[in-house]
Amino acid sequence: TGIQELLLSRIRDVADYPEPGVMFKDITPLLADPAAFTALTDALAGIVERTGATKIVGLEARGFILGAPVAVRAGVGFIPVRKAGKLPGATLRQSYDLEYGSAEIEVHAEDLSTQDRVLVIDDVLATGGTAEASLQLIRRAGAQVAGVAVLMELAFLDGRSRLAPALDGAPLEAL
Ligand code: 5GP
Repeated sequence: TGIQELLLSRIRDVADYPEPGVMFKDITPLLADPAAFTALTDALAGIVERTGATKIVGLEARGFILGAPVAVRAGVGFIPVRKAGKLPGATLRQSYDLEYGSAEIEVHAEDLSTQDRVLVIDDVLATGGTAEASLQLIRRAGAQVAGVAVLMELAFLDGRSRLAPALDGAPLEAL
């Protein structure tokens, strides 16, 4: 469709970043183009409405850039999920496996309640490890999962399969 072509045309492939052999998808040209950034924000806000989400969780750092304007547009709250050690208040913490080693993310526990239906937003779904850990945080807080929405899914890494159990039937939407 038109919007997919517009969005794809504003994503830059950067070879050998952050390490040799990796083709990094750089979204900064999209952010710099107001027509593309607005189209993306509107499309993500449509997913908020379709899924009945009442809160957005944005994943550090590009999930903050995409999720915040969507929250304002859709009229729902925004909750940052950060790398461990960055949030000042009482947190829930979740670790997850990387190719080499592991990582940890956190959320302010009081920002999520059993009343919430949460849509996770990020720019790129790669292995799915980060998104999976965020869904585990949301469920541990007692909130419901409305789904996961990303600009781009790197399908060859099959993050979709890794996410399926944590989604438990909720949608994964990749624009
Ligand atoms: P995963 O946990 O799914 O393996 O990695 C996803 C996380 O790493 C996301 O937060 C995403 O921002 C980042 N990421 C991984 N690969 C890329 C990429 O090629 N481009 C961008 N923009 N982010 C990436």
